[in-house]
Amino acid sequence: MFIDLTKIRKIPGKTFHFDLLEDVKPLILGNDRVEFLSPAQVSLDVKNTGKVIAFTGRFDGDTELVCSRCVERYPYHAGFDFKEEFCHEFDAPGLSEEVRDPEDVHIFQGNKVDFGSVLRENLYLHIPMKSVCDENCKGLCVLCGVNLNNETCKCTKEEIDPRMEVLKRYFNR
Ligand SMILES: [Zn+2]
Ligand SMILES: [Zn+2]
Repeated sequence: MFIDLTKIRKIPGKTFHFDLLEDVKPLILGNDRVEFLSPAQVSLDVKNTGKVIAFTGRFDGDTELVCSRCVERYPYHAGFDFKEEFCHEFDAPGLSEEVRDPEDVHIFQGNKVDFGSVLRENLYLHIPMKSVCDENCKGLCVLCGVNLNNETCKCTKEEIDPRMEVLKRYFNR
């Protein structure tokens, strides 16, 4: 998603609003590939605040994550507010007088900013690496591997010494 800032850079104080649909390419989180089922909605305000062009808004997209307890996929809504600042390279000198953290400002060249890749960084921050399908997810039986949300098994529920567990698995083969 590239946003053309030619017009807005000429009008200090002005805000442009965008309602966008973004096709989010799959993210790789640990061993999981996170795919978005449909285009995500991005509501975006772009404000010319002088040297800095401020992007504020909200991202809403639907995807699936893998539960870290039962290893099943479950629907996950990624929704978050964002605020990002951009500055044209020509305006970058003197930036430190205008903003508190110049390192947080994305410097761009030309007329367009690659907002898609900045959104992607935000997604990596907002989507949990480890998550559960439900707080009460019972997970998998450590002995036989059945999903305890759907089935019960006859394995002993006593606490098992992990060393014994290895042996037990060995003998159950
Ligand atoms: Zn689960
Ligand atoms: Zn079991």
